[in-house]
Amino acid sequence: MSNYSRQNNTILKIVEAHPHINIKEISDKAKFKIPTISLATIYRNLDKLESHQKIQRIHINREFVLYEKNKGPHHHFICTKCNTISDLYDPQINVCTSCLSGQHDFTINHINMNIFGTCKKCSQTLSN
Ligand SMILES: [Zn+2]
Ligand SMILES: [Zn+2]
Repeated sequence: MSNYSRQNNTILKIVEAHPHINIKEISDKAKFKIPTISLATIYRNLDKLESHQKIQRIHINREFVLYEKNKGPHHHFICTKCNTISDLYDPQINVCTSCLSGQHDFTINHINMNIFGTCKKCSQTLSN
């Protein structure tokens, strides 16, 4: 296996094994396997994996970007107390986007919705 595909494979395996992983965690885990790997190489591999639709990038905000294995279109619930992220698959959201598309004369290619709030665990802690 070439050096390049080894790096690419290592990064893909890390993202697959850890849903919603950030760049810091990816880099720590990649360096554990390939001590000489640079951050630039990691970013380059992530871009490549994303363009081949092997992984998805989730922009929570400018500083907070996460990666996950491509699982098709879905959305995210984000707890603002503990930063837990969970996947949301809801066909109703897709229905409502198709009518939005018609009402606003805008062709929607892709929607990535981040819904912020408090998770069950944190709301239980709050009310106790
Ligand atoms: Zn929480
Ligand atoms: Zn997700």
